[in-house]
This record gives sequence, structure tokens and C-alpha cells, in this order.
Amino acid sequence: MLTRFAPSITGFIHLGHVYHLLVLFSLSKKLDLSVLLRAEDHDKQRFKQEYLESLFVDLKFLGIQCKGPTVYQSCSKKYYDDCLDFLIRKNLVYACKCSRSEILSNQHLNKSELHYSGKCKNKNLPFEGNTIRFKVEDKKIYFKDLILGHQTQNPFFQCGDFSIRDKLGNYTYQFVCVCDDIRQKITHVIRGEDILESTARQILLYRAFEAPIPNFFHHSLLYDKNGNKLCKTNKSESISEMIKNGISSDEIFAKALNLENPISLSRAYDYMDKGIM
Ligand SMILES: [Zn+2]
Repeated sequence: MLTRFAPSITGFIHLGHVYHLLVLFSLSKKLDLSVLLRAEDHDKQRFKQEYLESLFVDLKFLGIQCKGPTVYQSCSKKYYDDCLDFLIRKNLVYACKCSRSEILSNQHLNKSELHYSGKCKNKNLPFEGNTIRFKVEDKKIYFKDLILGHQTQNPFFQCGDFSIRDKLGNYTYQFVCVCDDIRQKITHVIRGEDILESTARQILLYRAFEAPIPNFFHHSLLYDKNGNKLCKTNKSESISEMIKNGISSDEIFAKALNLENPISLSRAYDYMDKGIM
């Protein structure tokens, strides 16, 4: 059975990633899963080579080892194109020429995320140069999250027909994530609860590809002392910065777990094991 560590290569890894890795590896030990590494480097605009190089240095410093070979999304265009062709043949997608601002201005539902009305569904527009959307029916999706319990989501009301490729030809996170989980034969998806809301639309993609649906685990996130989620955008200190400042790996694990005293990796796994499930 397999799971994966799939960081997006759009910044340096930080304490939120370390916390995620501790959850991921302690659960994997408990469930006897191998952890594969996937470099989510499909975002050409935000990718930097130094982020990718630093990822390997940081993981090595922390003593965290994933099973190879690493999958690189940037080298996978042909595979994604084939996946898209499969959906086109099944008539599950269509092209849309609406801009983001047009969709926002027509959005009647007061939502935190973009909701598409299906305006271009029957227009038969060409795929090239337009956004490609996946057709979503009004149907509730039920699944069991193995940390949070039973969940019900209806993507028809959450987001409507969602984008799988933008007009410039960049595939979206939802699409590449599912395509890669299928080809890497991932059986267990372990990730932060900030992505919980997009699980049902990913399940729709698994069904469209006639692929087995993995087990889902969405764990809590690490917050800073002001209650902000730790991520690149709010400038949490990177692991590479900490290493440069002479902080040991045991001190980094302690910071990620909000503990006073340094803690070794194996003791950190045991510590997580008591709290997660
Ligand atoms: Zn449209």
C-alpha cells in the first residue's frame, strides 16, 4: 500500500510541511504504507530550481526518506494530455471562454470559491485557447475520511463545472493530483484539512477515469501564534533558513510539535501516533 509526499515546488518547505511529514510518516508506519515522493512542479510561473534543490537538502537534514523514483509533474505533459483525451472521448469535458472576472460578476451564490454556472457547456467551443471544464452533476458525494469521519459534499453547488486546464494550457491542481495518484497507484491520501473541500470533485475524476478511489485522511494544520495557517504566503520561516541558523533537526521537530524540548524523529513519530487516530 502506498501514500505520497507531494509538496508544491513554489517555495521553500517550512514548519507546516514538517508537521505534515510527521503525521504522514507516523500514520504510514502504523498502516504499513510506503511513502513516495512527488514534486508538484507543474506551476511554471511559480516554480524555482532552488526550491526543488532545497527540498532534497532539507529532507536529508531531517532524516526523512521517501521511496523512489520521484515523479516530476513538469516532465509529465504527455501523460496529462493522454488523461485529458480519455475524458474528451467520454464526453465529460467542454471548453469555456469565460474569464475569471466574468464568472465572479455573474456569481449569485455568496461563496468563498469560484462557482461556474455552466454557461459555455453547450457552445461546442474549441479546446485550444480556452479553459477546459469537467462536467459536474447535481449529486451528493459521500465518503469517509479516516480522521474526520463521514463527509457529504456536492461539487455542483461548491464549484460547478470545475477547470482542469486553463486557457494557456496549464493543468490544474485537482486534475494533475488525481492523474498522478492514479499512475503512482496511491492507496492512501494523507493531507491537510485545508484540501478537504475538494475531495468530492477529485472523487468524480477518479470515477471518470474508472480508477479505484483511495482512502482519505485530512489532518489538522499547524498555525502560528496569531492563528494563521503556516504557509509560504504568510512568510513562515523556511527549514533551509533554520538550518543555516544552526538549528538541529530535533529542535525543528520540537518547533513543529510546539514542544519545549528537542525531540528525535523516532520519538516524534511515537508522539504523533498517540494523537492522530
Ligand atoms: Zn464559460
